[in-house]
Amino acid sequence: MKNNKMKDIVDPYGRRINYLRLSITDRCNLRCIYCSQGRNFRFLPHKEILTYEELIRLIHIGMKLGVEKVRLTGGEPFVRKGFLSFLAEIMRLFPKIDLRITTNGTLLTKDVILQLKSIGIKVINVSLDTFNREKFRRITGMDLFANVVSAISELIKNNIKTKINVVALRSINHMEVREFVRFAFENPVDVRFIEFMDLSQGGKWQEQYFFSADEIFEIIAREFSLTRELGSKDTRGPARMYKILGGRGRIGIISPLSNHFCGSCNRFRITADGRLRTCLFSEKDYRLKPILRNDKFSQETLYKIMNGAAKKKPLGYEIISRFKGNGRGMYAIGG
Ligand code: SAM
Repeated sequence: MKNNKMKDIVDPYGRRINYLRLSITDRCNLRCIYCSQGRNFRFLPHKEILTYEELIRLIHIGMKLGVEKVRLTGGEPFVRKGFLSFLAEIMRLFPKIDLRITTNGTLLTKDVILQLKSIGIKVINVSLDTFNREKFRRITGMDLFANVVSAISELIKNNIKTKINVVALRSINHMEVREFVRFAFENPVDVRFIEFMDLSQGGKWQEQYFFSADEIFEIIAREFSLTRELGSKDTRGPARMYKILGGRGRIGIISPLSNHFCGSCNRFRITADGRLRTCLFSEKDYRLKPILRNDKFSQETLYKIMNGAAKKKPLGYEIISRFKGNGRGMYAIGG
């Protein structure tokens, strides 16, 4: 592989694309009510999914274009065979990469966590919407609460930075906001509340479940004092981050429906079947797989497409009201 750096990708709003989110599978072992539960969906056939080799090629070109951070997501990344070896290979090829994973935590056994540590993974996002086993089963369709809780405590024990993602849902888990904040108060973790998004219209989106960031703040303020954190590498993402007075961890609020983040959005998403999406709320995608699978594959062609896509990267808040969704959940886009 040649290592000459190509020109960074900067969009017309001056946003430099330095963050790649790669969905490595659309398959998941959970059926969350707001994502895949009850849907009549079909997973992508295996041959449509990018191979590990193709994903590495994408990371390689991304690094040449100025990407610093890569997140692997899905679907559930740990259901894909060979995932740990893939992680090790990425770290071997790109030792300076800031490599992160978003997972539901159900498959993170002690042994897997030790392997992640030895591979050099430093930060993991775990999704968990409730501290109640029965509610967990209702939300996810599976009785795997104990696996997630034990994964979180093992990650903490092994000093792997742990961020817990909680989708806030009215009348389902909004009454647990306090308990989640307490967890972050007592443990060195980030708990990030995500506003429920309408990604699928006509699917499972139900407006009555929407619980806003303001309502979350209101609950927190009854018991805790928060101070806003600005400027650190970890506070440049979509989450507004807060320290809890006297506590060990932090709180984050992700409100994709407000526009505070779009102006500095630095990310490209690539779906498991190799479609580049420049914004969660854009219908437009760019098919990279045919280029990756072409015998005459060239990095220049890929660069041209990525650069062209960046030129058209929208401001999400300008297009969100026109967004129709694709009838599919986050598992298909890559959360
Ligand atoms: N399986 C992994 C996991 O559970 O984290 C990665 C994929 S999952 C789709 C990524 C994140 O998207 C999860 O935290 C999930 O709760 C969130 N998510 C899915 N659908 C959502 C929606 N409609 N609104 C807000 N967050 C959503």
